[in-house]
Amino acid sequence: MTPDARRETLRAALADVRARIDAAARDAGRDPAEVELLAVTKTWPASDVALLTDLGLAEFGENKEQEGAAKAEELTALRPDAVARWRIVGRLQRNKARSLARWAHAVDSVDSPRLADALDRAAGAALDAGERSGPLHVLVQVSLDGAEGRGGVDVDHVQALAERVDALAHLSLDGVMTVAPRDADPAEAFGTFAAVAERVRCAFPHARTLSAGMSGDLEAAIEHGSTCVRVGTALLGTR
Ligand SMILES: *Cc1c(COP(=O)(O)O)cnc(C)c1O
Repeated sequence: MTPDARRETLRAALADVRARIDAAARDAGRDPAEVELLAVTKTWPASDVALLTDLGLAEFGENKEQEGAAKAEELTALRPDAVARWRIVGRLQRNKARSLARWAHAVDSVDSPRLADALDRAAGAALDAGERSGPLHVLVQVSLDGAEGRGGVDVDHVQALAERVDALAHLSLDGVMTVAPRDADPAEAFGTFAAVAERVRCAFPHARTLSAGMSGDLEAAIEHGSTCVRVGTALLGTR
């Protein structure tokens, strides 16, 4: 596909996704401006990210540290003036913390105290080295079905992990994230998630982010209070 054709494809897909977000927010009696769109660009090239910044997007999600680091660097070469913030949305090994602290704005998939501690140390080291200018933003990932594979902490352990993150000097607790279980009713899952998020927000009023909803279920997530939908396929195509 030529760059111009790709630009048009992305422009049309973005308009569709925005229309879905707007309609879902209106149906829920919410202001669409409360719902942020995170473009999940994993497996797609930096040239696509550059086109998405041209279209006004500024938040990008990656699930692998190395792929994200390379893409962030390429984007800077392609669009030196673009404002882009990168979030890690996938399972993360602790030995990647130091590297990601150089380029990532946030980690949305924190699901253990050990990972939180490693990220705190890494962010502190990156701050000392002048490699970043602020804390690493963090969402606690919630597992709604207790399944191991996709990460997340059990509902019962969310509050303790949020406390741990909040107490760490170089992390900023922004809220919670979830991926709806594969064979659950999304409305029920997102309802449970909203209750978990509300408990966290009661204890930590600044932790206001509810990251929920992807290409296939963003309407149900917005109906249940999502403030950030993470969209890959509907924006960029099928991987
Ligand atoms: C890939 C991914 C997404 C995007 O999923 P799509 O169905 O392609 O929109 C969202 N969240 C996480 C954690 C992901 O890994």
